[in-house]
Amino acid sequence: MEKSFASKLIHLGEKYPESVSRSKSLPITMTSVFAFDDVETLDKVYEGEAKGYIYTRNGNPVHDALSEIMFNIEEGEDALVYSSGMAAIALSLISQLKTGDHIIAANVLYGGSFQFIKTELARFNIEVSFVDIINEDITEYFRPNTKVVYVETISNPLMEAVDLEKLADITHQNNAKLIVDNTFATPIICQPLLLGADIVAYSATKYLCGHSDVTAGIIVANKETIRKIYASGLLYGPTMSPFDAWLVVRSLRTLELRVKQHSENALKLAQYLEGNSKISKVYYPGLSSSPTFGVAKRLFNNNLFGGMLSIDLAGGEKGAYELLRNLETINFVPSLAGVSTSTSYPAKTSHRSLNDEELRKANISKGLIRISTGLESIHDIIEEFDMALAKI
Ligand code: PLP
Repeated sequence: MEKSFASKLIHLGEKYPESVSRSKSLPITMTSVFAFDDVETLDKVYEGEAKGYIYTRNGNPVHDALSEIMFNIEEGEDALVYSSGMAAIALSLISQLKTGDHIIAANVLYGGSFQFIKTELARFNIEVSFVDIINEDITEYFRPNTKVVYVETISNPLMEAVDLEKLADITHQNNAKLIVDNTFATPIICQPLLLGADIVAYSATKYLCGHSDVTAGIIVANKETIRKIYASGLLYGPTMSPFDAWLVVRSLRTLELRVKQHSENALKLAQYLEGNSKISKVYYPGLSSSPTFGVAKRLFNNNLFGGMLSIDLAGGEKGAYELLRNLETINFVPSLAGVSTSTSYPAKTSHRSLNDEELRKANISKGLIRISTGLESIHDIIEEFDMALAKI
């Protein structure tokens, strides 16, 4: 029967053409929902008797492809993907906490995570102790109701490497769970689950994607924990677009190469900046002057220390503003981990939500600039900093 114009437009091209060959790269299953031949089949999929997809908030083949890569390179059992790093972090925390619980968190964290723990968890009457995880003994902060310890592998923005192995031991001795944000390190540099962590969360917006074109989050843990988080995630609903998941899969193909190059460039840049008189301090875990160099050497893979570093300008706030203005191709952006080198000013960007007292406690000065070292030639990166610093 000849169909009308409108029907042809709606139904033609719906099915993948018959072919004895297949797509070399992963197809993007850009659909919000899946079609069934009959109710019996739908029933079987809902009951777990047949493998199938129902609705993209429940799952999508590209989500599963991304999850498979992540839990394998992380050496976990399963993974979940979400529409942002904050969604991954919030769900990781919520899955382990309930009203009346207590959490110990590092006092130097990405501002959004700090704020979530301080304000959102407080709404559920969950208490928090923010602790200087690097210099203090956290043992004394545990209470009978402490359920979670939350840290970042490399603290943002002071780039201190946390001794995850030691922290996991203390956490487990106190019957709590260790949740680690491994965004700055990536699994190329550190695999927190192998060091004893229970849940690893990522802002995949950063190195996992690495091209500054996707906002995404990923969680890796054991099957039981993932099952629990999945149930919450389904109801809160921060679903990752299949297209974004596909972009992250595409990016992960080059993760190892990128992280090696980011790290090599960052080490050379850190060494150069340490010798520049306009800089009073350089924060990079791969420098022997870093207080956590020993921890980083012991826990990090392949002698790599990541692409992120921070500097304190000798000229304080004024010096920092001037440097940001003087840089030309190096963009001032409130994010990180793209292919091009960029800068950020934590006091006004990632840590904007911290008040002056909190900034002081976290040792984040007004002269602090964070640098995300890109993949350009290191000579060009150094030359641009050299010229911009000379003008201050
Ligand atoms: N964790 C770290 C270390 C971050 O730097 C960020 C964002 O900058 C986040 C988490 C939040 O991730 P997203 O912006 O993807 O929600």
